[in-house]
Amino acid sequence: MTQDVGTVDFSELTKAAQNAAVNYRPNDDVHIGGVGSALRTFDGGIFTGACIDCGCGIGFCAEHSAIAEMLKHRVTRIAAIVAVNWRGEILPPCGRCRELMQQIDGGNRETQILIASGTVVSLSELLPFPWRTESG
Ligand SMILES: [Zn+2]
Repeated sequence: MTQDVGTVDFSELTKAAQNAAVNYRPNDDVHIGGVGSALRTFDGGIFTGACIDCGCGIGFCAEHSAIAEMLKHRVTRIAAIVAVNWRGEILPPCGRCRELMQQIDGGNRETQILIASGTVVSLSELLPFPWRTESG
């Protein structure tokens, strides 16, 4: 189902993502919130998440964390999303996060993503060839 994304004001989302980038190191092997993410749903909900980086390369991205928060509310469509590191620099989503957004809801191909200051693209521009089509 197509929903009108409209014009997205990323200033509030970017602030929320910065607040989630807590840059917390509880010990030498764990870094939480090196990156924070915030997403907005079509009903205006905002969900945030922090990345977790542990030794041996385990952990997950801030976008995954924000998406998990959204999914707890049985919502799958993302109108807009942004991620920033703890210094406030905007980061585009990694390939795994792009694929996650696509797989939880094919409609997220329309999701507006702030990939750099003043640069917004849709998920379909970042992930032009999904591994599976909508029809399966
Ligand atoms: Zn990622």
